[in-house]
Amino acid sequence: MTYKIHTAPIWDAFKLTDVCPICELRRATEERLLGQYLNESVMEPDARVRVNRQGFCGSHSQKMLAGGNICGFALQLQTRNRHIRESLKLIEGAKRAQKEASRLQDEATSCIICAETEQIMARYYQTIALMFKNEKTFPELARDAACLCVNDYSRLLAHSAHAGSRADDYRKTLYLVITRSLSQSDADLAAFIDRFDYQKKDASVMTPEQKAAPVSAVRKLTRL
Ligand SMILES: [Zn+2]
Ligand SMILES: [Zn+2]
Repeated sequence: MTYKIHTAPIWDAFKLTDVCPICELRRATEERLLGQYLNESVMEPDARVRVNRQGFCGSHSQKMLAGGNICGFALQLQTRNRHIRESLKLIEGAKRAQKEASRLQDEATSCIICAETEQIMARYYQTIALMFKNEKTFPELARDAACLCVNDYSRLLAHSAHAGSRADDYRKTLYLVITRSLSQSDADLAAFIDRFDYQKKDASVMTPEQKAAPVSAVRKLTRL
């Protein structure tokens, strides 16, 4: 059986003790792609065509601006800018205006890094399900995962059929991890909120997890 992506980063991510392992895989994937689009892809004709077509979203543009190769990014912005400029035409009529507005909304939000990250993440979601079925010690590691976010829980669930005969076991494990993760947030948020209660202000010192409870809850509840 062959996996669609290397499994070593998956093993490593599931061993982390304080973050959602899938968010960590996504972070590392985005970082690698940002490095690629800031460096070798700048002069690669195929990559330039893809960048012209899709551009970069607001969040990834900010990261490209801060990425240490502003000239390389400016070159890509120039060709993307020309691509958009050349696609514009004077519009007559309300129906055509609506259609053009919708096309430009897609242009303004499309992103080569978001699109390629999603493709790679889909391979991770499939591979994790396959590993649950095939790797002897992986189910235990998955069950003990420190954390899981709602977005990744939903995506893992959507790909859970790849665990084949063990799919229901896999879904049960995912359910255990997400409920434990959200219960932990509930407890940490309760401790955090207590600090604002003047009657409890002198209560015991907060742990680092309790101090970070709002930030951690945002990461678990929202797709950043
Ligand atoms: Zn996550
Ligand atoms: Zn993006």
